[in-house]
Amino acid sequence: MNSSGFSQFKLNKQLLQAVEDAGYRTPTPIQRRSIPLISAGHDILGIAQTGTGKTAAFLLPLLMKVKYAEGTAPRALILAPTRELVTQLYQEVQKLSAHTDLRSLAIYGGVGPKSQLEGIEAGIDILLSTPGRFLDLYTRGVIQVKALRTLVLDEADKMMDMGFMPQIRRILEVIPLKRQNLLFSATMPQSVLTLSEEFLEFPVKVEMSPSATTAQTVTQFAYEVPNFKTKVRLLHHLLQDTASFNKVIVFVRTKKAADNLYKFLTRAAEGEIRVIHSNKGQNTRLNSLNAFKLNQVRILVSTDVAARGIDVTMVSHVINFEVPLVYEDYVHRVGRTGRAENVGTAITFFDPGEAYHLRKIEKLIKHRIELHDLPPQIEVTATSFEEQQAINRAIDKQRRREDPNYQGAFHRKKQKKTPQRKRKSK
Ligand code: AMP
Repeated sequence: MNSSGFSQFKLNKQLLQAVEDAGYRTPTPIQRRSIPLISAGHDILGIAQTGTGKTAAFLLPLLMKVKYAEGTAPRALILAPTRELVTQLYQEVQKLSAHTDLRSLAIYGGVGPKSQLEGIEAGIDILLSTPGRFLDLYTRGVIQVKALRTLVLDEADKMMDMGFMPQIRRILEVIPLKRQNLLFSATMPQSVLTLSEEFLEFPVKVEMSPSATTAQTVTQFAYEVPNFKTKVRLLHHLLQDTASFNKVIVFVRTKKAADNLYKFLTRAAEGEIRVIHSNKGQNTRLNSLNAFKLNQVRILVSTDVAARGIDVTMVSHVINFEVPLVYEDYVHRVGRTGRAENVGTAITFFDPGEAYHLRKIEKLIKHRIELHDLPPQIEVTATSFEEQQAINRAIDKQRRREDPNYQGAFHRKKQKKTPQRKRKSK
């Protein structure tokens, strides 16, 4: 058998065959460390970003434990924050359990529950769900929990960000106490720490790299660009190189920026482009993602929220058209490229108002992001008055954040005006 790297684990031949079919030859570091621990029954607190192979790291021992179809009630529950993530996990379960008779089912909101109900009634071994839909169907008495022996919480930091703590607490109350718990999170904010203390029993911490580091296979650099228009020009320029920029995700902060940029790019005829953000319907988002995955679309414009759960391999470039203000999002964005054994590039555009945030990100990831000069072909346009004002305001806010005594350019102006007005009224 060719899956030599994986034969060191206690996996059966059905799973080893699936690993071989998937083309995984060597276990990734998190797989080497987690698979034996999970197989031995430990609770795990896994700190690993997407792209490290963490999904197979918990799925392989989980599938080994559940082993074959039995009864009708699920024996493993995997919770993830979004429909996209649940779907993606489901695909990985399908792939790795292809040579077994295990029955798995993915359930999530946004669609009628009819087929999901039928699926549950038919009998399942592994249930994958968003917290909300699980509780919904549990409350209706559809899901039996008595046989659950393994619980996985994936992307726990995102679950906390999205306000799922109450639902998770409620789920923990209703499922059997005697079970194995696996918690995975890309970052380790206080909220996840609290959750892990409530929920894990003597966990073994598996930390792939210090919290919030970006994959080593990613080259990261940045351009300082004075304004939006010049950013568009630079993006347009980079995208001309269709050979190396062959699969690109462009990140922006807001839905509005996503739509704007999409318009600019389609006008510049960059080939087919898709845009995803939370105002787009679930199906549109999934269709866009699939088209991008299948290389039918070269460029995907996305917000951070919409990008949760994107699993596309071989992304050549992540372009941060805007610097994220939630600094951990930088790690998530960059994690979309350089996944597993592939190398990737992450390029950040920042205007003077965003320089501060980029410095904070460097601190978080403990890595200096190299600064590149703008290519000489890029024509730098003057910044519009409104944009300059917005940049100045952002810089003022940052200075005030760093130094509470700082009065700020805007503040000073106001102070000057007040005495003048007073004089007038005298
Ligand atoms: P994950 O971190 O679980 O999101 O996995 C990232 C990507 O790496 C997925 O596309 C997996 O299919 C792939 N992958 C997982 N394990 C391996 C491995 N041992 N060798 C190569 N690719 C892998």
